[in-house]
Amino acid sequence: MPFWWWGARLSTLCLTIAAVVPGVASSAQPASPRFALQISRSTLRQGQTIRLAVRAPAAPGSLKVTFAGRTWPVYRTGPSAWQTFLGTDPTTKPGRYTLTVEAVGPSGTIARIRRDVTVLRVAFPKRRLTFDPETSKLLTPEAVARERQRVREALREAHPTQLWEDPLALPIDGPISSPYGVLSVYMGTTRGFHSGVDFAMPEGTPVRAAGAGIVRLAELLPLSGNAVMIDHGVGVITSYLHMSAIDAHVGQQVQKGDVIGRVGSTGLATGPHLHWGLRVNGIRVDPMPWAVR
Ligand SMILES: [Zn+2]
Repeated sequence: MPFWWWGARLSTLCLTIAAVVPGVASSAQPASPRFALQISRSTLRQGQTIRLAVRAPAAPGSLKVTFAGRTWPVYRTGPSAWQTFLGTDPTTKPGRYTLTVEAVGPSGTIARIRRDVTVLRVAFPKRRLTFDPETSKLLTPEAVARERQRVREALREAHPTQLWEDPLALPIDGPISSPYGVLSVYMGTTRGFHSGVDFAMPEGTPVRAAGAGIVRLAELLPLSGNAVMIDHGVGVITSYLHMSAIDAHVGQQVQKGDVIGRVGSTGLATGPHLHWGLRVNGIRVDPMPWAVR
């Protein structure tokens, strides 16, 4: 998703947006000419992400972004520049949505921009999961809830600015054994979708950070096994699961390519592989479009 001006200096950024999107602020209300929105795409497949940049009037009371039935965190990147990412996953209903950005002041909405966004259905394949009896004992609703809670706590803090440079790097150079979005059928029941990409590689293969960021979690989890999660800023988190060893610690600042662990088969896993995931503002999206191979 090249967004060529994304890394531009702030002064350049504002000028560029103004030049690229004159008249974009065509909403029900006449928006301020200084209020502009740019999105990376208006049609996307389930699992894809929209990058959103806003040039808002200086110091609005707040900026509110709504899409697909929720309000999204938005991050201020300069005196009048804001950005965020809107994620979709296999549970996002295909169809047409209205993306709304509102600048809200003390006396109400100052300006509003609306854009139509279409989410396309993806025919995700299904896979049947089987585990040996010892491993399957791990998969209880209580264990799932406990682990989710632990991850939520670890990711409570989100760095407010973008720490990585596009594109991300793949964490490992190996064949994909299970792509994103595959519906997991376990004991005859669909247990959700595959929230990342699995790379099958021998135990001990180094796993590298996909981009610069801050390690927020580095510990053994019951289901995800040895796990590392990196906060790349503005709501973007990558995760590296089922590793045999962890070579990172919480609070560590990592650079793209730093070794953070080793491939393994810990937690709920059927063999040595790396599960690589990416979440944007809590939504687990397909990481592959973010990376180069
Ligand atoms: Zn996986």
